Amino acid sequence: MSLVLTVDGERWRGHLRSVAEANPGLVPVAKGNGYGFTIGRLARRTQWLADQGLGGDTLAVGTYDELPQVADRFGGDLLVLTPWRPFGAALEVDPRLSPRLVHTVSRLPDLEELLARDPGARFVLEHVTSMLRHGLAARELWAAAALLTDRHPRARFEGVALHLPLAQGSHLSEVHRLLNDVVGAELPPGPGATTVWVSHLTTEELAQLRAAYPDFTVRPRIGTQLWLGDRGALRATATVLDVHTVERGDVFGYRTHTAPKAGHILVVSGGTAHGIGLEAPTGDTSLKARAATLARGGLDAVGFVRSPFSIDGKQRLFAEPPHMQASMLFLPHGSRVPEVGDRIDVRVRFTTTAFDRVVVS
Ligand SMILES: *Cc1c(COP(=O)(O)O)cnc(C)c1O
Repeated sequence: MSLVLTVDGERWRGHLRSVAEANPGLVPVAKGNGYGFTIGRLARRTQWLADQGLGGDTLAVGTYDELPQVADRFGGDLLVLTPWRPFGAALEVDPRLSPRLVHTVSRLPDLEELLARDPGARFVLEHVTSMLRHGLAARELWAAAALLTDRHPRARFEGVALHLPLAQGSHLSEVHRLLNDVVGAELPPGPGATTVWVSHLTTEELAQLRAAYPDFTVRPRIGTQLWLGDRGALRATATVLDVHTVERGDVFGYRTHTAPKAGHILVVSGGTAHGIGLEAPTGDTSLKARAATLARGGLDAVGFVRSPFSIDGKQRLFAEPPHMQASMLFLPHGSRVPEVGDRIDVRVRFTTTAFDRVVVS
């Protein structure tokens, strides 16, 4: 009935342990759809890592709205990656969570406003990177340091956060430049002055960084590589819900298509509500190419597009665009026809898929 993520539990847990062991100071990231697993499950897994002494003293969530999904499943500190702003969800956090919360501050006025509202707030200062998403420029970082030293000497500053772009070559020259800004900012003395929270550095880059800045504590925030780093442990499947035999010219679907030739219409679980979408049209779409495929009787020429569902290792075509919770596939005559109840593989983007079930062995 369902779109299911089946996890080889032993292999997955082994991978999580090995990533945690290779990355001291690891901050697991659980946000969005929980990388396909749900945020709640990742919070419990982070607690499981912490219980084994494998880091996990801090869990990062993407937004303030996600805090309720983790707060009761993980007992450590909670870093919110979306910068604090003086409005919206950031101001509506359950006050009982405050002692565990680490805010991200990315603008000077927000630093003043946060400390005015909550002098005991814990926070990291985000320094802008070449991503240009959020963050203080070097000059603003210096101003923030001066503000903390002069006016808020007891503020609970926990370090500088850097959000790096996904690797295209090495990050190291950029990180060195950014760390020079951090050193030059003369941040208030304390552990925060020498703690950097980073993303998207390879294990090798992290090692080089630690060697170059031995006084610094490096806290790698990792999501994808941690939860999804061993794809072989993960399998996404749909279920065949119905099979109809069609002859050429038979009508089917919401949009009353006609079958271009004999075959089978398969109804399988998984639709737009799960994040199943249309794939790129098959191959060349020029008129000439379409005419050629048409001449060969190719199905893409009659408007069928490739689906992420595969049967017997072959990617199949949508008979029409996916429905909300199911999809219709066209299986040309001659292919093996699966039975109702059979499971078939689905290629998914884990970060955009809402599975009905996650089964961890
Ligand atoms: C999502 C996110 C991460 C983790 O990214 P992955 O590519 O999933 O490891 C780290 N830092 C920030 C600020 C993020 O938003």
